[in-house]
Amino acid sequence: MKIDIHHIPTQGLMLDVERQAQHFSGLKAMMENGECEFVEPLAIHLDVLPMKDFIRVKGRLDTTLRQDCVRCLESFEYPLQCRFILNYSREIPQDLHNAETEGIELTADQIGMVFFEGEEIDFTDAIQEQAILGMPFKPICKANCKGLCPRCGKDLNFGPCLCNEKEPDGPFAVLKDLKLP
Ligand SMILES: [Zn+2]
Ligand SMILES: [Zn+2]
Repeated sequence: MKIDIHHIPTQGLMLDVERQAQHFSGLKAMMENGECEFVEPLAIHLDVLPMKDFIRVKGRLDTTLRQDCVRCLESFEYPLQCRFILNYSREIPQDLHNAETEGIELTADQIGMVFFEGEEIDFTDAIQEQAILGMPFKPICKANCKGLCPRCGKDLNFGPCLCNEKEPDGPFAVLKDLKLP
């Protein structure tokens, strides 16, 4: 997914592409590890606009993911939508130099600056990174997922298990009736 920077008109250009997740090595590896499954291809929309010192890319990424809920372990599908802005620059822009001399610490990431060499920009890595950043760290099938009972393993979304009822028979049940002076 490359563009030749000399082919960007001054008013900018729009790119609409669909790519299978297998096209991205990192996403492919995640699927092979069983971390997630892409139910749909990635729908990618990029607005590429040449600025004075850099090229601004406003991006949108939509797809549908399938992952296992960390609470109940059931797999579920959900829409993944990412919005991002990336600034592609051949070299560190003047503003950044100024920030450095004034003692303000800025990293390329903080201002969304991506450096490239040559005459082409390849969006593949950046899009993959955005997809990974957009995925939940701990996917949960629904906000009120009750998860599994830690004792019997029953999925509590389908109703309570019997563990709570048995509790008074446990080794500490006697403490419940103990009356302190
Ligand atoms: Zn769940
Ligand atoms: Zn239980």
